[in-house]
Amino acid sequence: MKVAFDNTYARLLPGFYAPGEPAQAPAPKLIKLNTQLAAELQLEIPQESAAQIFSGNTPPEGAQVIAQAYAGHQFGHFVPQLGDGRALLYGEVIDSNGRRRDIQLKGSGRTAFSRGGDGKAALGPVLREYLMGEGMHALGIPTTRALAAVATGEPVYRERALPGAVLPRVAASHIRVGTFQFFAAHASPDKVRLLAEYSIARHYPQAANPLELLTAVRDAQAVLIAKWMLVGFIHGVMNTDNMAISGETIDYGPCAFMDTYSPKTVFSSIDQNGRYAYGQQPSIAVWNLSRLAETLLPLIHEDEKTAVDIATEVLRGFMPVYETHWLNGMRAKLGITVPDESDRQLITDFLQIIEAQKLDFTQSFRRLSSGQTPDANWAKRWQPRRTATPAAMDAVNPIYIPRNHKVEEALKSAEANNFEPFETLNKVLKDPFTERPGLEAFATPNPTPNPAYRTFCGT
Ligand code: AMP
Ligand code: MG
Repeated sequence: MKVAFDNTYARLLPGFYAPGEPAQAPAPKLIKLNTQLAAELQLEIPQESAAQIFSGNTPPEGAQVIAQAYAGHQFGHFVPQLGDGRALLYGEVIDSNGRRRDIQLKGSGRTAFSRGGDGKAALGPVLREYLMGEGMHALGIPTTRALAAVATGEPVYRERALPGAVLPRVAASHIRVGTFQFFAAHASPDKVRLLAEYSIARHYPQAANPLELLTAVRDAQAVLIAKWMLVGFIHGVMNTDNMAISGETIDYGPCAFMDTYSPKTVFSSIDQNGRYAYGQQPSIAVWNLSRLAETLLPLIHEDEKTAVDIATEVLRGFMPVYETHWLNGMRAKLGITVPDESDRQLITDFLQIIEAQKLDFTQSFRRLSSGQTPDANWAKRWQPRRTATPAAMDAVNPIYIPRNHKVEEALKSAEANNFEPFETLNKVLKDPFTERPGLEAFATPNPTPNPAYRTFCGT
């Protein structure tokens, strides 16, 4: 297969990566090819070679296989060297909309940044990222996307032996807050400047300087987090190395959709203090952006104190942008088309009611289009404010989300070599807003709820 790669990262940023070579998968088998995305990327992939290409066995002509360097704050603690320990970049292509996209393999073996790890991925987490990412995309949320899923035919060893797999994924780029942190920690401001200039050219060409880059990333993240909050998405591990400069959701590990509404909701087994709880996400985004701002200080002003003042002002702008998007999004969910000062109160009261009644977040909003509300007094205030049609409300309140028990069911079956539940769920999630007969089980919370449900990173 010939791909029209144009690998600007490898070409323009020498020293920002290490060359890599994917491990050989003994018996690669294509589980899933995202044919729509492949078409969007203008890839012509012969079905018979897809498994070889996307397992990493035969990189396509024109690929320049690299592992990208990055650092990051993990749960608030700085780790100066992380990097692509279980991922390799094939290169960049221009899609049918003229947008530059990375094609990366996740789980293709050891790299210069693997430290003690095997660089591999298990089937479960690969399919989880596939489902969650495609689900988010269908919800209209910026995200990296799965291009395929390939079984390697060899086990990976975690607490137990698991089937191994590779996830080829597509991103606007894989530049992270942690990428900036790596070069701020290890190199000169010149390297950070080079990365900033590259990021501007690639993602925010309207930004005239590093300060405007910071502003643009701030806005992209504010919009992204607002979108997460509006659908009840919990990323689970918002470390600075898992925050993309592009404003796409990246690195689906222990992420999950909230069922019963509570801002304190945490699913990740490793997030014991709730640092990355649902309600924490906007403030964590600001914290992460502050780490990005720190790397840019020398480029913002030669006097550090002045630079800090300028950057702080930019960061203060996050919450207003976030709040505006969140409020407008919530208005749409409630069917409010004529904004009013009192809307915020109406919204927070609704959330308080569904929290007190321990109701399902997604279902509570979806039911509003048919006039079902959880509280008669609240309904009296809401009804005159609701001016949108049921169809307009249904178009912003999903009926099908990747519910935890459905995702687990799909992964468990896949591990036993039955990919049907995965296929079905993937199909359901492709159209999250349109109710279809026969899919009731995908629209309702777990009939046997598990309050102790935990998600894992799967590394
Ligand atoms: P993540 O949990 O995906 O954000 O990964 C955090 C860091 O650990 C990154 O530097 C990864 O590349 C690295 N890592 C995660 N899993 C593995 C693995 N199986 N082998 C090597 N490195 C890994
Ligand atoms: Mg990561």
